[in-house]
Amino acid sequence: MQLDPLVKPRSVAIVGATDRAGPGRSVVESLGAIGFAGAIYPVNPKYQTVLNHVCYPSLTDLPEAPDVVVFSIRKPLLPEQVRLAVKRGARAAVIYDAGFAELGEDGARQQAEIAGLCREAGMPVCGPNCMGILNPTARVTTYKQTLMDTNGLAGNVGFISQSGSVCIAILSDLRRYGISLSVSAGNEAVTRTVDYIEYLIDDPATKVIATFTETVREPDRYVAALDRAAAVGKPVVVLKVGRTERTRRAITSHTGGLAGESRVFSEILRAHRAIEVTDLDEMTEVLAVCQGERWPRGRGISVITGSGGLAEMILDNATAAGLDLPPLSGTERAEAERVIGRITGDGNPFDAWGNGDYAVNLPHAMSVVDGSERIGAVVYCADTSNEGHVGHPGRVLENVKMLADAAKASQKPYYLMSSRPGVMNAQQAKGLRESGLVQIGGTRQGLGAIDRIGRYMMPQRPLRTSANRSGAQLADLLAAMTGRRTVNEYESKRLLSAFGVPVTREHRVTTLEEATRAAHELGYPVVLKALSDDIPHKTELGLVAVGLANDGDLASAFQRLQERLDRIEPRPSDAALLVQEFVAGGIEVFAGVSRDPDFGLTLAFGMGGIAIEITRDFSLRTLPLRERDAEAMIAETRGAAMLGAIRGRPAADVAILAACLNALADFAHHNADVLEEIDLNPIKALPEGRGCVVVDALIVARSPARG
Ligand code: ADP
Ligand code: MG
Repeated sequence: MQLDPLVKPRSVAIVGATDRAGPGRSVVESLGAIGFAGAIYPVNPKYQTVLNHVCYPSLTDLPEAPDVVVFSIRKPLLPEQVRLAVKRGARAAVIYDAGFAELGEDGARQQAEIAGLCREAGMPVCGPNCMGILNPTARVTTYKQTLMDTNGLAGNVGFISQSGSVCIAILSDLRRYGISLSVSAGNEAVTRTVDYIEYLIDDPATKVIATFTETVREPDRYVAALDRAAAVGKPVVVLKVGRTERTRRAITSHTGGLAGESRVFSEILRAHRAIEVTDLDEMTEVLAVCQGERWPRGRGISVITGSGGLAEMILDNATAAGLDLPPLSGTERAEAERVIGRITGDGNPFDAWGNGDYAVNLPHAMSVVDGSERIGAVVYCADTSNEGHVGHPGRVLENVKMLADAAKASQKPYYLMSSRPGVMNAQQAKGLRESGLVQIGGTRQGLGAIDRIGRYMMPQRPLRTSANRSGAQLADLLAAMTGRRTVNEYESKRLLSAFGVPVTREHRVTTLEEATRAAHELGYPVVLKALSDDIPHKTELGLVAVGLANDGDLASAFQRLQERLDRIEPRPSDAALLVQEFVAGGIEVFAGVSRDPDFGLTLAFGMGGIAIEITRDFSLRTLPLRERDAEAMIAETRGAAMLGAIRGRPAADVAILAACLNALADFAHHNADVLEEIDLNPIKALPEGRGCVVVDALIVARSPARG
């Protein structure tokens, strides 16, 4: 659907136009304020004119088919008026009123009815339950708030929000950026966030796209749009709400959508190079950083201050946030101290007060850190007051000049940072902007924004090329299984090992004679387990016996397990036993694959044990993996230190463990069509040189109905 008539209409009809206060008046007023050059058609049988524009009794009376019809009327009147709009040949619609899908089934039905009419007519629709669209670039608006001052409104941020109030929040402070387009998309009955993203990717006025999202609709298209935005170098900044069960429930009753699993979504954003933020402070700092003439080309940030206390606070917060503040090298430090005097700490943050002559010291500090290869961005932290209650009045512009001079001699981006987000001197922010520089605020938010853009600018690691294995495939096995969805441990391991996943040596047996022969072949101690597609979890049923040391142990365990199997009602027809090598020592970890209904397969890795559900200490990636993803996944878990050498215990073989994750990822990727889940739980991570072994495996196939 063509969005032009919706986002940059040449004619606007306002159904429900009025000269009384309200959206029916403010849109007409705002079109005047923004300098709209097209036709304005108020529609209302009660008026001859509205604010000096001829008012038409009905949509059918309009002298031409309007690009967009804005419905400033109550819900019950909508179906009839929308029909009239379609009949009159309107090309787009904006529907403000609420009371639709966000309220439940009845509302959803009414919404679907209106959406159906518009979709059939090929009309893009903003809303319902929205505040409309503001397009300062094209000088047109259907945004229902009154525009008071249109100066400084236009800029390069394309903003799309499913919440109108968040549009208000973003538009409430335009000291550091302007808007190319602001969309309050509401319930998205027809036109969705992904449609607007696609529009903005091609919009020359837009440099950065930001979205406030409760529900992602059309996940495949959404992901493709993220890829296209990344390919053209426009960052997509995403604030997704509904990250906890509580807010998720609130969302169901708010916009009528369902939020997806938040960890998977975060991974999707990372994999497709979108920039995730968790609040509006973080978002606006990223938008500010994007306004800089230069963007950081790496993560290293040098922070220069004139205060030891601030330096300590910044270091604490930056460390907690995982930011990269590389210390000064020996030669950098010597060069800095030659001029500045003694420097405390490791020089990042760089307290450049020294001998107190900061007109000399600060520029010198900047030139020293600017020369460092590890530094991608230089930040000067200084607080200035907006109202001028306190402080030296000349300082504001001195700061701008000092930073602009330093930046002139450099290829790197420079920033002025106030220690609190959102607090800044407007004059200073303006001065910086005119020099291509940026004012940021707050360590976590401001420095975090530099870090986010620094990461964004780093080249993405290539996708792993995996060997295409032949041999037994899951699909073949499933074809023979007729209807079963779980694949037993023995067969799961055979499939996985064909892809290079290291598994235990083991034999499937049915008699004690076979079991004993298998144990002799493997060598004691061994493990005996029940084996059946119908028993995905064995321990709960007492069907695992570990550490069997001799024929006698084996015989009694065999007897015990057989009896327990006999007691299962009905006894699984495929039941057999598994004699397995006993893997002593090592650290238990787990790896698994699961399918998100929206975004497909993801790989998880975590430290083992039954507490995983509580600790939730696992890392996640979408498939296929990229180079070094597996190593990063292991390192990312909080418990990763457990794999290192501790108290005389040797370090685990992390390289082989990473290779095992890659092999698992290869298997999953190759069998993606028929795969629902995999559990390798546990994997025993053994000391360096001995690799790792999967001691239990379970594959769950995708049920054909859903495939
Ligand atoms: P379940 O189906 O209940 O997950 P497992 O096969 O994972 O059964 O066995 C339960 C536990 O027994 C494992 O978590 C592991 O601690 C231990 N175990 C299982 N197989 C072996 C083995 N071959 N070597 C050593 N320990 C094992
Ligand atoms: Mg297990």
